[in-house]
Amino acid sequence: MKRISILGSTGSIGTQTLDVVSHQPDLEVVALAAGKNVVKLEEQIRAFRPRMAALWDEAAAQDLRARIKDLDVRVSWGMEGLMEAAAWQDADITVTAIVGMIGIQPTMAAIRAGKDIALANKETLVTAGHLIMPMAEEYGVRILPVDSEHSAIFQSLNGERYDRIEKILLTCSGGPFRGMSAQDLEHVTVEDALRHPNWNMGPKITVDSATLVNKGLEVMEAGWLFRTGCDRIEVVVQPQSVIHSAVQFTDGAVIAQMGTPDMRLPIQYALFWPDRRRMDTERLDLFALRSLTFEKPDTSVFRGLPLAVRAMKAGGTMPTVFNAANERAVAKFLKGEITFTDIYRIIENSMDAHAVIPDPDVLTILAVEKEVYARIDQP
Ligand code: NDP
Repeated sequence: MKRISILGSTGSIGTQTLDVVSHQPDLEVVALAAGKNVVKLEEQIRAFRPRMAALWDEAAAQDLRARIKDLDVRVSWGMEGLMEAAAWQDADITVTAIVGMIGIQPTMAAIRAGKDIALANKETLVTAGHLIMPMAEEYGVRILPVDSEHSAIFQSLNGERYDRIEKILLTCSGGPFRGMSAQDLEHVTVEDALRHPNWNMGPKITVDSATLVNKGLEVMEAGWLFRTGCDRIEVVVQPQSVIHSAVQFTDGAVIAQMGTPDMRLPIQYALFWPDRRRMDTERLDLFALRSLTFEKPDTSVFRGLPLAVRAMKAGGTMPTVFNAANERAVAKFLKGEITFTDIYRIIENSMDAHAVIPDPDVLTILAVEKEVYARIDQP
């Protein structure tokens, strides 16, 4: 029996993780955590019977406690609650699928408690990779990627030496606005941005896919996970989303992982690695597909990517500024307060205004996040 704790259980990755669990009799859920969605969390608790549950929102947690008083489930809240769920005593592996930098401290708590990490929350490595990677090594825990591209790279590296990587070919669908000009982008709506061509994901990451900020975050994440930095990562637009990513080795061999776009595969792979379990999902039909196409990303239009590379090269607190500015800008865009291309302007202005602090600790990272939010919110 493998026991898992899921942070962000009510979200897109969280619910798909629970779907994987429901098909695998030797997976047991021991802890669940979310933000404030009491109704969904209660449903999940009744279906999966964890021993503890946490919500970020205290009032929501009190409500949850009242709703499930017939069950023997401990309920906690706030950062303490998230950290307790992340490090829950019985868990073997913690799935980190909370959205945002709020995921950093619970991930660290899980590592300190010796839990392997199935990592979906990319903000953790983007902003604190310099803390997380050495910490995982110190505590002897594995960081198993859930993001489909990173899982594909990880699968391509099975049995291979990381120092034989020549470059990583990180694929990208191009998002719903592929082929558009900078001028066209000025007029796209929230509805357009939420219509991803191949993947069904949470709203924030769907907008990030349309700006290519998501690809930028993934370059940074891959740089930490596979120790390549950003110089040896090439983004390749693969509009069919069939090649989930590839590795080119020093002898010129290229190994890729292909499949239909279904997040349950990388989630299940992370949970059972190094084993593969059966999964009854749609199979890739190469004959129906007939061809795969490749393009270079248009970085003059989709500026999320070059801005991310600039942030990673600057290092220290700059990736935090990039990420926090994007988070705030995307929230404003989703509320209809700014245009799509304002997202780039807000990120760039925030980066221009920031003096890098090298080697930041968690408190500095979180303080910089707050400063960036305050700067953007000022009238
Ligand atoms: P969703 O928006 O669908 O879900 C977010 C989850 O985080 C929800 O469970 C939400 O709870 C919870 N949450 C939000 N704020 C808090 C908080 N303050 N404290 C505790 N929990 C909180 O996001 P996704 O599932 O799409 O993405 C999750 C992470 O995984 C992101 O970092 C994303 O970049 C990454 N990722 C997602 C992929 C995807 O296919 N969706 C692919 C690869 C990576 P509540 O419902 O209560 O608000």
